[in-house]
Amino acid sequence: MKETSSKTPGCEVITVGTELLLGQILDTNTTYLAKELGEIGVSIRLRTAVGDLLDEMIEVIKSAADRCDMVIMTGGLGPTLDDLSREAVAKAAGVSLEFRQDLMDQIEKIFRNAGYKMSENNRRQAYVPAGSQAIPNPMGTAPGFICDVDQTPVICLPGVPRELEYLTAKEVIPWVQQRFGLHGKRLTYRVLKTVGIGESKVDTLIGDLIKPGENPEVGLLASQGEIKIRIAVKATSENEIDAIISPVAEEIKSRLGNKIFGEDGDTLEGVVDSLLSRSGLTLATMETFSAGIAAQRLYALPSIHLVGSIVIPDKDYLFRWFRQDDMATKSISALSFARKLTERGKAGLGLAVLGFPKRIGKGYTLRGDAAVSGDGIEKSYSWEMGGDLFSLQQRGAVIGLNTLRLALLETIGS
Ligand code: ATP
Ligand code: MG
Repeated sequence: MKETSSKTPGCEVITVGTELLLGQILDTNTTYLAKELGEIGVSIRLRTAVGDLLDEMIEVIKSAADRCDMVIMTGGLGPTLDDLSREAVAKAAGVSLEFRQDLMDQIEKIFRNAGYKMSENNRRQAYVPAGSQAIPNPMGTAPGFICDVDQTPVICLPGVPRELEYLTAKEVIPWVQQRFGLHGKRLTYRVLKTVGIGESKVDTLIGDLIKPGENPEVGLLASQGEIKIRIAVKATSENEIDAIISPVAEEIKSRLGNKIFGEDGDTLEGVVDSLLSRSGLTLATMETFSAGIAAQRLYALPSIHLVGSIVIPDKDYLFRWFRQDDMATKSISALSFARKLTERGKAGLGLAVLGFPKRIGKGYTLRGDAAVSGDGIEKSYSWEMGGDLFSLQQRGAVIGLNTLRLALLETIGS
């Protein structure tokens, strides 16, 4: 049964190709289409992958067209005999294939421009189901087309991601907006990024703002020590977007304070680096279990403030390196190592991330200690965590960078 809604047209995506079913390629086309169509207010209801088999393709096309407001198909438009999308859609629509001279001219032109001789089987690509609207493809030899199957438009596009993306942006999106009267309404979002706070704590603080289906809609996404808060909005203009998002964003910021380190494209290391720029200080780091990841994230920017990084995962070696006799008189803490980085190497700031994972069963536990010292700043933070080594390393680096961020914020202000 077809479910239609005047507000949000429902779409099904069919990806064609036996290679998808064999797991030889990853279906990135559906992901791309879901994102692009979502942004203009079309929701993807179902996705189907089907092999290069005519009967199965026809069945899938017919049932999709029966269920939803529009269908997008990718792949199977090549020149070879196993590229069956044209035939399958024609059969599902109950029409024959028709030769289109204009498409043939386009295809020949592509070969001429590339300096190749066209092979005879490329003629197959100039056929589309009778009565359909052709979508010329300047990026490749496979034109797309839009053909009604039981009054539901089926949009057929090439499988090559570069071609699919080009045709979607240039032809399909405007066509869909026109057809379903979406009038430029689109889905967009702002992301607030937090660090140093768990998902459940974020939920306790802003849970009352998370109401699925609202405009704007607030959602959480957690990954390796960072939690992203996504504020999604459906709106027609930049002004409207801002008017809907801003009050919610401000409310979230006031509740989470300096747990929020940035927005949208910001990275933790990028934020730390700009704070270092403002402070005018250089930085040296010493890391144990985090394997230099905190330093690496800064190097990769690249940061000109990072003047040195030492990675010493082994406890005994670490103490020999920093002279055990010195250490014996002081507490064995990240702070003592952070101080050493500034004293010995004369870096403006030292960041130390210390900890030695203990194996427990299949995983590890760790008591971590991060500290920043220099230029009148002393800040440290200890915590306990468990997990696999990889995530302990990543989270350790995040905590180290965050300790540095908070120390810099305290001295130079936000
Ligand atoms: P062509 O004329 O270039 O053959 P086509 O429409 O016939 O285009 P396919 O032959 O199905 O497309 O696929 C071409 C290539 O595009 C595949 O080899 C694959 O690498 C890629 N591709 C196909 N479908 C997908 C998909 N769903 N996701 C990502 N890549 C895909
Ligand atoms: Mg092909």
